[in-house]
Amino acid sequence: MTRDDALALDAADTLAPLRQQFVLPPDLIYLDGNSLGVLPRTTAARVQQVVQQEWGVDLIRSWNSAGWIDLPQRVGDKIAQLVGAGAGELVVADSTSVNLFKVLSAALSMAQADAPQRRRIVSERSNFPTDLYIAEALARERGLELVLAETGDLPARLDERCAVLVLTHVNYRSGRMHDMAALSRAASDAGALVVWDLAHSAGAVPVDLHADGADFAIGCGYKYLNGGPGAPAFVWAHPRHAERFWQPLAGWMGHAAPFDFTPGYRPAAGISRYLCGTPAVLSLAALECGVDTVLAAQAYGGMAALRRKSLALTRLFAERVQATCPGLTLVSPRADAERGSQVCLSHPEIAYPVIQALIARGVVGDFRAPDILRFGFTPLTLRYADAWDAAEQLRQVLASGEWRHSEFNQRHAVT
Ligand SMILES: *Cc1c(COP(=O)(O)O)cnc(C)c1O
Repeated sequence: MTRDDALALDAADTLAPLRQQFVLPPDLIYLDGNSLGVLPRTTAARVQQVVQQEWGVDLIRSWNSAGWIDLPQRVGDKIAQLVGAGAGELVVADSTSVNLFKVLSAALSMAQADAPQRRRIVSERSNFPTDLYIAEALARERGLELVLAETGDLPARLDERCAVLVLTHVNYRSGRMHDMAALSRAASDAGALVVWDLAHSAGAVPVDLHADGADFAIGCGYKYLNGGPGAPAFVWAHPRHAERFWQPLAGWMGHAAPFDFTPGYRPAAGISRYLCGTPAVLSLAALECGVDTVLAAQAYGGMAALRRKSLALTRLFAERVQATCPGLTLVSPRADAERGSQVCLSHPEIAYPVIQALIARGVVGDFRAPDILRFGFTPLTLRYADAWDAAEQLRQVLASGEWRHSEFNQRHAVT
């Protein structure tokens, strides 16, 4: 593959117009949309409208007149379309960590009501730390055991002792994607429930929660959904589970009639009981703009088309790096079916300074301790030439030795 080949792919790319939806700094190749998605063109004006008119002028009336109170459900219905959930089944609220606490707690209550001898939460040792911390906290609180398995050992841990399996669909560090249908079936066959974290999946890869047999799901608004820094997260419960238990953060927004102001808690019907406090209106307005950029792809073949382009981009980048950067090891799976929308490379010593030197050249990826160079590919914005150029810049950083400069070796708080 030559750079001209990459340019030819861009010229033939039917998804190319989707890039116009974003404000993109010139001369920047942004390969970190899996950590903070880029800014949609509509967001600034929409947030300004909410601030100046809906808040500044209409004030408290906007809860009704501007539909603020329904934002968690309205934006939730849009995200539902991207993950194979039905309308009315998914709401936006809180952070991913908090939503995991809610669904895992509800799932444990269900599992233990049906089978008290099931005392294990099973997860993967390489799962994202916040997921493991929340699972550990719930295990402590309830006197249960958290069992961490290596990836290949997961099926063997699904036995009569397992209450709930908690997994992240696409691994944040390796980019490895689980077979959601197979693992959900294995959990179900073992009599366990399964919670899926879609942080690196929603808006990045096709997900079909119903078809794949998921019980609960959560996911992130500020990554591939382009909701902005700290955007609220989402939570889904299968409709057959949603009303079985209270979720533990039983706040008034999850009450059946919050404005009755009654002293006793009566959970709302369906997924709305997974709300806790007052919705973050400004953040929800921004998130809706971000979700709309992904939904815009429906006119161009939807998630299936985005997935085809994402795989082609990650394949191109991984092949170029392997051909030109012999010191780096490809960590992400080569098989398309096992790879999310990112490429991860490792180097035992210089991963951090190489990423810093690359960022200084205008190619933004990130470093994940201890040795990973991580590159997220968002097919809404990226061009084939970007993937080609990023690999070439990486080759030059390594060949020149510029990563040795002291400025590239100072650790920042956020990597
Ligand atoms: C990004 C990410 C989170 C983030 O959780 P917050 O509560 O939003 O900070 C959680 N889980 C996974 C797997 C992630 O990748």
